[in-house]
Amino acid sequence: MSSDNPIEIVNLRKEYGTFVAVDDLNLSIKKNSFTGFLGPNGAGKSTTLKILTHLINATSGEAYINGIDVTKDPKAALTGVGTVVETPEFYSYLTPKETLKYVGQIIGMSAESISSETSRILAKVKMTEWENKKIGTFSKGMRQRIALGQALMNNPNVIILDEPTSGLDPRGMAEMREVLKNLRNDSNNLTVIMSSHVLHEVSDLCDRIALINHGKMIVQDDISIIGNSDGTKRMIVKVEEAPNKETISKVMGLNNVISAERFGNDIDVMVKGDAGVRVQFFNDVSALNIGAYSVSEEDNLETAYLKLIKESR
Ligand code: ADP
Ligand code: MG
Repeated sequence: MSSDNPIEIVNLRKEYGTFVAVDDLNLSIKKNSFTGFLGPNGAGKSTTLKILTHLINATSGEAYINGIDVTKDPKAALTGVGTVVETPEFYSYLTPKETLKYVGQIIGMSAESISSETSRILAKVKMTEWENKKIGTFSKGMRQRIALGQALMNNPNVIILDEPTSGLDPRGMAEMREVLKNLRNDSNNLTVIMSSHVLHEVSDLCDRIALINHGKMIVQDDISIIGNSDGTKRMIVKVEEAPNKETISKVMGLNNVISAERFGNDIDVMVKGDAGVRVQFFNDVSALNIGAYSVSEEDNLETAYLKLIKESR
């Protein structure tokens, strides 16, 4: 496979009896990207990641990591790859420090590098404070961070995560997101694919999105492009009194306005252009004397996401 992409999935298919969980999926993960693998529950994310990490076999198709076919040579393909795909199991009587040491021994690291890596990684996953406490007493979020720590012991250049914040309480979620954000900011040779069904988590952490539904690829691109495909912004203008035709047409007449419609008691406006244009729109709306008291920009990514999911039903 000649490709610079650390992960390359080609016509991947997984059937359970007559049910197709992954439907001829093609996916390319760019080097050094942080890709959010998005899709509603049941879309086929876990199935795809389990095939990629050789936990289950595909019905047909190929999956390459660093150019090596996972189905043909899983050991070589998964060398230098950190994965957290299934709910991790630990020895509850071991501490985080002992657990990472154990992992280091299994993968053949020297005693010195085990000791330096263990403390570096425990700090990275925010577990230093509990490094000598038994895992049996830990929350799910803490266990999940130790699982990520284990994956980092591989010194990976590719990390594969299946819903790393799923099932965590709000604090556990926030901590895991912070750990992932730091990982992204600190690493220069690291490619991450992380599945999620939560859009705002992905938009917060990732620079690329691959969106699937019913096992099929819907779109894969940079977040900035998906959320801003036609250079328009949707703005909601709140006015004191429900807008009449005259109010709407005044807004419609402003510079860079493509459309203006009544939306409940608000005005739904599409504005074309960049940040400067939004400033001008804000000032123009205020100067209209239509009783406007708020102008807010809708999340374009969310609008695009909901539209894409709806179209793929
Ligand atoms: P996601 O992770 O996106 O929520 P999954 O990959 O877990 O989705 O599942 C995709 C679809 O495949 C779902 O409809 C699920 O019920 C089905 N599925 C997953 N595993 C099995 C299995 N072992 N046997 C039958 N159906 C399965
Ligand atoms: Mg899943």
